This record gives sequence, C-alpha cells and structure tokens, in this order.
Amino acid sequence: MSGKLIVVSNRIPTAATPAGGLVYALHETLRKTGGIWVGSDPEFHASPSRSLTEIGDQSAYRRLAFGLTELDHQTFYLGFANSVLWPVCHRRGDLVRMSRRFEQGYRRVNKRLAQQIFEVAKVDDTIWVHDYHFFPLASELRKLGFEGKIGFFLHIPFPALGDLGALPLEASLARWLADYDLVGLQTRADVARCLEMFRSELGAELMNDGKIKYGDQTVGVRSFPIGIDVDTFVATAKRPMADAKLAADLSGDIVIGVDRLDYSKGLPNRFRAFGRYLETRTDKSRRASLLQIAPPTREEVTAYQDIRHELEELAGRLNGENAELDWTPLRYIHRNIDRNLLAKLYRIARVGLVTPFADGMNLVAKEYIAAQDPNDPGVLVLSRMAGAAEDMTQALLVNPYDIEEMSEALTQALNMPLQERQDRYEACMAQVKATDVGRWSENYLSALKDSRRKLSWDS
Ligand code: UDP
Repeated sequence: MSGKLIVVSNRIPTAATPAGGLVYALHETLRKTGGIWVGSDPEFHASPSRSLTEIGDQSAYRRLAFGLTELDHQTFYLGFANSVLWPVCHRRGDLVRMSRRFEQGYRRVNKRLAQQIFEVAKVDDTIWVHDYHFFPLASELRKLGFEGKIGFFLHIPFPALGDLGALPLEASLARWLADYDLVGLQTRADVARCLEMFRSELGAELMNDGKIKYGDQTVGVRSFPIGIDVDTFVATAKRPMADAKLAADLSGDIVIGVDRLDYSKGLPNRFRAFGRYLETRTDKSRRASLLQIAPPTREEVTAYQDIRHELEELAGRLNGENAELDWTPLRYIHRNIDRNLLAKLYRIARVGLVTPFADGMNLVAKEYIAAQDPNDPGVLVLSRMAGAAEDMTQALLVNPYDIEEMSEALTQALNMPLQERQDRYEACMAQVKATDVGRWSENYLSALKDSRRKLSWDS
C-alpha cells in the first residue's frame, strides 16, 4: 500500500491493547502499518468540533474521534442504524421504526464524517469503512472529490431483496455501495444477495470475476468470513481458572450460551428448547444446567426492552417449574463477562448452544470450538441461520424456530460418544483456523489493493 491506511468504525479502541477479536485484528494491522483509526467519541457534544480530535493512546497509530450530539445519537445511532438498518438486515421488518428524523440524522452524520475524513486523507491513502453505520460514506467522500481506494466490510447479514423494501426510498444501499471499490461480506450467501440487489436495483452487470459493472465503474463483491485470534484464544482457554471456588461450583453438565441480549439471537426459543429438554429427558437424575450470559445492549431501544422482559419471565418460569432444592437449571446472567473468563467457561461446558435467527458470522461459535480440550471436546449446537454455519457444517446444525429439534440436538450432544465428538471438533476447528482474524484483514486489504474501480479499456 503506498499511502496510509484509514480505518473507520463506529467504536474506537481507547486502551493501548484492546480485547475482542475484530478490534484486536485491526489494532494489530494498524500497529504494523501505521495509519489512522477513526471512530465516534464516547462523549456527546453540544456542537461537535469541525475536525476530528485525537483520543486515547496515539503511540502506534493515530486515533481520531468524531463527535456526536445527543440528537445524532438518537437519530443516527439508536434511530436509523439500530432501529431501521439492524432489523432490516436481520429479517425483522416488523421491528423497524420509521422517522424522517432518523434518515436525516444518518445522512447528516455520514456527510459530516466524510468532510472530516477528507481533511486528513491523501489520494494515495486507503480508507476501510466498517459496518452498517456508514453505508453512504463513500458516496459522500466521492462527492467531495476523493478518488482513492475505499473499501467496505459489512459485519452483519446482507438483507434479502424483498426486505430492502422496508427501507425509505432515498436510502439506496445499491447506490451507496456502488461508490466503494470493494464490498466485503461474511458469507457466500451474503454475496449472492448483494449481487442480486445490484442487478435488480441498478441493472448492473455481473462479471465473471465476481465484480459488478455499473456505468464505467466496477465494484468487487466478495466474502471474507471473519474469525477469531485462534492462538491467543486457545492459550487462554487452556490456563486453569484462577477462582477455584467458581471452578468447583460449575461442576456437572454445563450447557453454555453467550450473546448480547439482542432479539436476533433467538434466546427465548433457546430457553424453551432447554425447558423441553428437561421435560423429555429419560434419566431424571441427570442435571444439566444452562449457563446463559446475556449482557445488555442498546437498552434505549424499545425492542430491546421487550426482549429483556420476555426473557426474564421465561427464565423465572423455567426455574420455577424445574428447579430442585439443590439444583438451579438455568443461570441467566445479564452482565458482561470478561472474554478471558469466557474462554475457560466454554472449555468446561459440554455443549455450546448458539441459536440465532440471523447472524452475520457469530464469533461465539468459533470461540467455543477453539476453547475445547481436543482429547475430550464438547459439542457445538449451531443455528443454520448463523453465518458460521456456512462452513462449520460438522456442528450439530439446528433450526432456531424448531424447539423440538433443538431439544433433541441437546440430548444428542449430551450423549455423544467421544469419537464422534472428536471428529466433529476437528472438522470445526479446521474451519476456525482457516478464518483466523489476522489473515482476514490481510486478505481483505490485499484484495482492496488489487481492486480497480474505473473500467479501463486498454488493459
Ligand atoms: N463477549 C464478551 N463478553 C460477554 C459476551 C460476549 O466478551 O459477556 C464477546 C464474545 O466473546 C465475542 C463477542 O463478544 O467475542 C460477540 O461476538 P459475536 O460475533 O458472537 O456477536 P455480536 O455481539 O457481534 O453480534
């Protein structure tokens, strides 16, 4: 890459070494190459400054923040990004909330951010934009005259053509994405949906090298399935748990679930399936317990308040009906747990239960596999609707709407012979290694480097 790399994401890591796979991978990339990370300032401002401001540690690369007002937060972040785009991409059109103010806020923030980035970007710089908060950023940068490379990566599912109808007319994902050089998506199924959109909405031509041609421009559309930092995660999971009392308390068959408390994660059905498993098990002396970690997220949005209430009621009923004096079947923890501790909890658990209705990839599925002891691995029960299921076909794949099937999969997982567990683990682990997050960012950036937006007839 000749110029510098500019990464844009909604959040910006402020600690010197951030935890969490994606942030860690981008941090490592920027640490090696230098460059700039642009993200939102966690503080709100009455009127954000016109230029980006330095925030956090600046030693390895520059971290520049854009300010948001309280109104921006309500309309851009909670509004258009998380009450329109998120439900549309997760096939929940019924949860979309429409407001002209949301759209205006989304356009306003993207336009302002483009101007701020344009001030610090040179033509040979490469801009890498992350996720649904910033679909129009390339269009805004092109309007200002930025001609350099701009790549986009969507971390969440690409919406189906039919679901795009739930977006306001002016919000044209097709036109917005046509201004990028390379659109990166999680899965092959996402790529198919994105190509279908370009064809149908813009009449774009699909070329046989995976690009689309629109006017005199081409846009690359490819899948880059994201993963985790495998070696670090395996090493962490292997280390013994520091808290011996906690380790002792977690004896017995543990089934683990780890998800932000989001309606896309299928948690109520998971609780129902676990309840069904408890009712139907033949050996009543067997006391598996479900440890569900579900930290709060986007709590200001009504749909998230609703799912929380539904889950609390289900959890209360499940324990009320099934608990014994000396056994609580469901431990539901509505708090964030440190990822290093999660690694050890995954390793103890006999089953990892990952049952979203829709999920871009789902890193928890990959973390659960990476954390297992190869000599005595647990079993991953995975929703067919998670991006991770496209390649991890040796997990026990389930339909997250089918309570009965999930309950049967739990029975099967808890009774699976060692040889089958090992075979399935090895097949899944090969996939986890193949998508290591370090390689993910390298692959993306090298594809972006090779991409060419303008058609030139002389080559
Ligand atoms: N995570 C965590 N603590 C928690 C819950 C989740 O550190 O209490 C981490 C988890 O280990 C994983 C990430 O958050 O790395 C969740 O990623 P995933 O792709 O599964 O779902 P997302 O939240 O991005 O929809």
